[in-house]
Amino acid sequence: MAAQHEKMHYAGRSVSENVIQIVTRTDEQPDAGRRTLFGLGRTELAAVAAELGEPGFRASQIADGIYKHRLADINEITTLSKAMRRKMSERGLKVGRPEILQVFRSVDGTERYLVQGESGSLQTVETVWMPEGDEGEAGDGSQEEGEEAQKAWSRATICVSSQVGCAVNCQFCLTAKLGLQRNLTAGEIAGQVVTVLDRHGVEVGRERVNLVFMGMGEPFLNYDNFMGAVRLLVEEVGLSPQRMTVSTSGIVPGIERFAQEPSEVRPKLAISLNAPNDEIRSEVMPLNRKWPIAAVVDAVRQVKLRPRERITFEYVLLGGVTDQPEHAREVARLVRRTGLPAKVNLIAWNPGPGIPFSMPQPGGVEAFRRVLSAEGVPTYLRRPRGRDIYAACGQLKRTVEG
Ligand code: SAH
Ligand code: SF4
Repeated sequence: MAAQHEKMHYAGRSVSENVIQIVTRTDEQPDAGRRTLFGLGRTELAAVAAELGEPGFRASQIADGIYKHRLADINEITTLSKAMRRKMSERGLKVGRPEILQVFRSVDGTERYLVQGESGSLQTVETVWMPEGDEGEAGDGSQEEGEEAQKAWSRATICVSSQVGCAVNCQFCLTAKLGLQRNLTAGEIAGQVVTVLDRHGVEVGRERVNLVFMGMGEPFLNYDNFMGAVRLLVEEVGLSPQRMTVSTSGIVPGIERFAQEPSEVRPKLAISLNAPNDEIRSEVMPLNRKWPIAAVVDAVRQVKLRPRERITFEYVLLGGVTDQPEHAREVARLVRRTGLPAKVNLIAWNPGPGIPFSMPQPGGVEAFRRVLSAEGVPTYLRRPRGRDIYAACGQLKRTVEG
């Protein structure tokens, strides 16, 4: 692969030193013009079966093959007759599940992947695997009592992207620098998850993984594809929406639609608050001028929470800008005033080139947490994962042209 390394330096190391695997694709040509099955739901698969003159139950066999058994090649779906598989290939059908092109591994075990977009798209998608999570799910109602660790990665979290780049323009975020390049399809979003589950041999149903839709992009500005992916992951792959969290910067119409989703397919909701009041929030997140905090909170109130479920407010601490003790007191008042069952996740700002903010002082995050906790707001620290490979929050941005 003609990979071009745009070297990014962090703590004296360049990201390219962490590349552990570059996968060379050999199937570029034969793929051209072929139709992808991965990403299609039952109804669409039934239409494919009908087109081939096959009965409707074939749709279930294909769905089970590609989503449940994670088969990446039509010829591996042996529940289908040989003749049907041949016919599918002749008609230009392929599974077309996204593949990992490149792997960056952090000293802390976090892996960041560049995942191939759909055929014809050169822009890669970024996905992150955190073998022990980052504590982001603490206290939001997703832990079961008596649950015990079975494997080293039994609390693994996959961080999923919803767009290449982002249009929202938060001043502290590296992804914002790309602008919006394109929306990902439902298949590309769900495909990130299935590919990473496969890489780590995760047995869905027996082993626990959390999904966070907190990678590149704003999920609620690609709503249909995002929710389409969630439905595939829940209904076909078998993952629980109670182990999924979607984070939004506060797209009010998106939150209102989300509130209408049935609880069987609705992930938990996190709101990127990131500032103690509208004045500072509008500075660091210009979209606050369109949808101020009160409008976001009103929309969030429409979500019918499950028993023990909490709304998460994410809060990035920007040194000197949002990390002072008076900010903590203001955040506590704000969160309490909403009257929502809520928790706060604190994230120390992760630096990126050309972004004019600074990290909070050492001890500043913990001091902030203490103020919030003393005010009665459950507050957790998200541990930065994979900073050395640019995998941490707000650091995703293509470092390699795929
Ligand atoms: N677009 C969505 C989801 C992706 S961003 C959203 O904004 O919510 C996921 C989280 O990373 C958000 O809470 C965001 O505020 C945070 N984030 C962005 N840039 C960051 C940075 N440089 N350091 C730490 N957190 C950051
Ligand atoms: Fe987009 Fe989220 Fe980054 Fe804001 S923080 S620019 S919404 S990815």
